[in-house]
Amino acid sequence: MAVIKILDEHIANQIAAGEVVERPSSVVKELVENAIDAGSTRIDVTVEEGGLQLIRVKDNGSGIGDDDVENAFQRHATSKILTGKDLFAIRSLGFRGEALASIAAVAKVDVVTSTDGSGLGRRLVIEGGTIKTFEPAQSMQGTEFTVRELFYNTPARLKYMKTIQTELGHISDLIYRLALSYPSIAFTLKHNDNALLQTIGNGDLLQVIAAVYGVHTAKSVMKVKAEHLDFELEGYIGKPEMTRSNRNAMSWFVNGRYVRSFPLNQAVLRAYHTLLPINRFPMVVLQARMHPTLVDVNVHPAKLEVRFSKEAELCEFIGSTLQQLLLKQQLIPQAAAPK
Ligand code: ADP
Ligand code: MG
Repeated sequence: MAVIKILDEHIANQIAAGEVVERPSSVVKELVENAIDAGSTRIDVTVEEGGLQLIRVKDNGSGIGDDDVENAFQRHATSKILTGKDLFAIRSLGFRGEALASIAAVAKVDVVTSTDGSGLGRRLVIEGGTIKTFEPAQSMQGTEFTVRELFYNTPARLKYMKTIQTELGHISDLIYRLALSYPSIAFTLKHNDNALLQTIGNGDLLQVIAAVYGVHTAKSVMKVKAEHLDFELEGYIGKPEMTRSNRNAMSWFVNGRYVRSFPLNQAVLRAYHTLLPINRFPMVVLQARMHPTLVDVNVHPAKLEVRFSKEAELCEFIGSTLQQLLLKQQLIPQAAAPK
């Protein structure tokens, strides 16, 4: 008798959830990235008890149509890519079609959505992967996801969660970075009714830097804007005297996506060279844009890591751009400037 069986969808989704939904901030990430992909200009995030009790993400984007709501929760269901070819030129933050199915497998999810301004839309409730309700409902244009009792049916994972403060730290760190990457979107973040962040969404990155890092920091950064054959680089970098003890002070965005990149960070550090004391890092908020075929985001489920097909050229461009800027500000004594 054959002993190998294809797992049923419920179990498959729970297994996938283990990868995609590591902790509350992973849910926030997936929901907010979906809101960004939906073309939203306003995204409101509310969390309770570090997100373990409740996560709500409300957007004013495209909404999800009647025929799509149930499908959105299917595994490998996405409106963002169609063919294998699309995978090599990703233009959206999402593309795996796994997030909603994974989140719904390990939480109680309520979504209210409408694709127009009629005031009418629909509401779907899904718990542990099982649809409970799907009915017409009042809704503004856009989508509101509410995720309650994350990991309620996976006690082992729940036990692994850290303190509310730690989970909240991951969430706020994530929202800060998304706000920095999208200055044209108005973000709010609230935790247990405390407002933690509010950005205006007027496209001015400096204002977001002020909201995230404080006005003092925003006043002492230098603007970066440069172009190369294949790349565009834009953002702000801190003066060398304004260093931080944590590598996290360096935020990199690639085509709008927050990424962790060792080579890009190294390019920054090389540009600052001897200007930085040991184990101190500059504050940088930099966005690199390139044709989507030049960057592979399909490296890891959380999509935090990317690979560049022209990494050496990109790093060289970043290094020389920042070095010139630091030089121009006469912050590097000419003679000591690295070649
Ligand atoms: P992916 O983002 O990889 O496509 P998800 O599971 O995150 O997969 O979402 C599935 C689909 O649901 C998306 O492709 C999109 O069509 C739809 N969707 C999810 N969230 C939103 C939203 N906030 N606004 C509009 N559509 C959404
Ligand atoms: Mg998604």
